[in-house]
Amino acid sequence: MEPTLNISGHTKMVCLIGSPVEHSMSPAMHNAAFAKLGVDYCYLAFDVQPEQLETAIKGLRELGFAGANVTMPCKTHVLQYLDELTPAAELMGAVNTIEVKGDKLIGHNTDGAGFMRNLDNHGVDYKGKKITINGAGGAGSAIFTQAALDGVTAIDVFNIKDDFFDSTAERVKVLSEKTGVPVTLYDLADREQLRKSVSESAVFINATRVGMPPLEDECTLDEDMLHDGLAVADTVYEPRETKLIKMAKAHGLITCPGVGMLLCQAALGEEIWTGQAMPIDYIEEKFYK
Ligand code: NAD
Repeated sequence: MEPTLNISGHTKMVCLIGSPVEHSMSPAMHNAAFAKLGVDYCYLAFDVQPEQLETAIKGLRELGFAGANVTMPCKTHVLQYLDELTPAAELMGAVNTIEVKGDKLIGHNTDGAGFMRNLDNHGVDYKGKKITINGAGGAGSAIFTQAALDGVTAIDVFNIKDDFFDSTAERVKVLSEKTGVPVTLYDLADREQLRKSVSESAVFINATRVGMPPLEDECTLDEDMLHDGLAVADTVYEPRETKLIKMAKAHGLITCPGVGMLLCQAALGEEIWTGQAMPIDYIEEKFYK
């Protein structure tokens, strides 16, 4: 029989805050994990716009929530309403997880840490090595910031020359100064630089939207840029195996599909709220296979 929640007057609440949230898998996923663990927690999603955020965050405190996840468009706005930030959340300037600790609200960002844990789970050796990442949006920024904190020696970042390119260059410069890890931004159209960067790297990461529909037949890396010893990771989790992951797998390389990042960042949230390890295999089987 499927484990179920037994909601009572003691049940601790966790929620997702952002907009839109109706199609989020988080409530189903976290409630299934809470039920499986037998912990007295319940997870709901609330549609909150940035202008409602201050009141919503006050509500977490007043109503005795255990914590929350924060999604778009509230991930950066929420910083001003929190009491403390972890070093990663502060460097990223974005929070996706809130911990309510006594009367304090602490902002975490588990996207980058979830990604790095997924690399660890696949036995990827990145400490003391250079990495290359395509994509400097929300996911990419979280990943290269956490990587700089977690012991890589250099990071080459590639992005299309979009409206955010110059501000990304500025953020990357500040990150380099604060962490002492050289982080360099290049135009994704510079294929020779990408080839050079990947040839010097132990890990290549796709953190662009390329690989997910309608770009599922595309890939930001050329096949002849792959080399022995390179680990290849994708943030895209739908489809589960992107063109990039299939190509790297065919070359016998270590591959880390995006679903692992998704599960690991969710697991980190549950550890923060409940102090218990999320049953990752059970959740993956139930929702992502
Ligand atoms: P975002 O909108 O913040 O950034 C999008 C990125 O994709 C930018 O770098 C942009 O320049 C790039 N991009 C868009 N179209 C492109 C194209 N045609 N060619 C090259 N680059 C292009 O989005 P995000 O939140 O950073 O998400 C990026 C990807 O990561 C998405 O596929 C998303 O599903 C995935 N993601 C996965 C997880 C996870 O837990 N696995 C978490 C967050 C995001």
